[in-house]
Amino acid sequence: MGDSVGRFGSRYGRKIRKRVLAVENRMRQDHPCPTCGRKAVRRTSTSIWECRKCGAKFAGGAYVPQTPTGRTAKRVITGLSEVDRNE
Ligand SMILES: [Zn+2]
Repeated sequence: MGDSVGRFGSRYGRKIRKRVLAVENRMRQDHPCPTCGRKAVRRTSTSIWECRKCGAKFAGGAYVPQTPTGRTAKRVITGLSEVDRNE
C-alpha cells in the first residue's frame, strides 16, 4: 500500500521500471480539474487531489486524479467528456 514505487527498483525488469517512470511523470503533471476544468490539480497525498485554482479537493486514484472506473461513471452521470479529452 502507499508509495512503494521505490521497491520496484531491482526486483522488476527495465520495462516495468519504464512504466513506473511514465506513471510518475504523469502523476507530477497538472491534471484537469473536474470542477473548474483548468489544469491545476495536484496530488496532495496518496489518492487526495487538490485544484490550485478553485480549491476543489477530491479523492481519486493514487497516481491520476480519476480511476478509469470513476471516469466512466462520471461520464455516464454528467455526460461530460471534456475532462477526458483535456490531457
Ligand atoms: Zn478547479
